[in-house]
Amino acid sequence: MLNRRRFLGAVGGSVGAAQLLPYAASAAPLGHEHFMAAAVEEGRRNERYPFGAVIVRSGTVVARGVASGDNPTSHGEMVAIDDHVDRLGNQGWADATLYTTAEPCPMCMSACAWAGIGQVVWGTSIEGLRRTGLDQIDLAATAVAEASKSFYTPKLLLGGVLADETDALFRRAQDLRRGGAEENGED
Ligand SMILES: [Zn+2]
Repeated sequence: MLNRRRFLGAVGGSVGAAQLLPYAASAAPLGHEHFMAAAVEEGRRNERYPFGAVIVRSGTVVARGVASGDNPTSHGEMVAIDDHVDRLGNQGWADATLYTTAEPCPMCMSACAWAGIGQVVWGTSIEGLRRTGLDQIDLAATAVAEASKSFYTPKLLLGGVLADETDALFRRAQDLRRGGAEENGED
């Protein structure tokens, strides 16, 4: 039990913001930070709106996506889910982990619930996004999951992973959206 608690405590690294919400971690594989870094890399493809996501199965990134302005539903998580379906079909979700640079919005978390994605891991919180000037629907991913509990029982919902990096990514994006005038702007 001690080891398990220490492992869970270490998931968020030095951030201290990691939340284990209300679902207990199963024998979670190592490497949440590793795969979050892959989501960050995906997010860097859209510097002004760096919402990146990857889907991992059996320790391998099998799908990825970044927010685009092409469609109101083209959030990173939605694009990654579409990519998964294109590559592997609409199956295998229970064993999948979706890593996303920011807490899923209600649309994306609902898609995770409809798919039945087993584990969802994010970096920056909805409140953290709001602090960088991004409009957000004020409904936590955990609340969407809770409201879906009649059919959706994720093994893990975990926020704050690599949040130092994802928070910096979104602050940088805010600077870019402002025109880059505040290179060392407030944080
Ligand atoms: Zn979304």
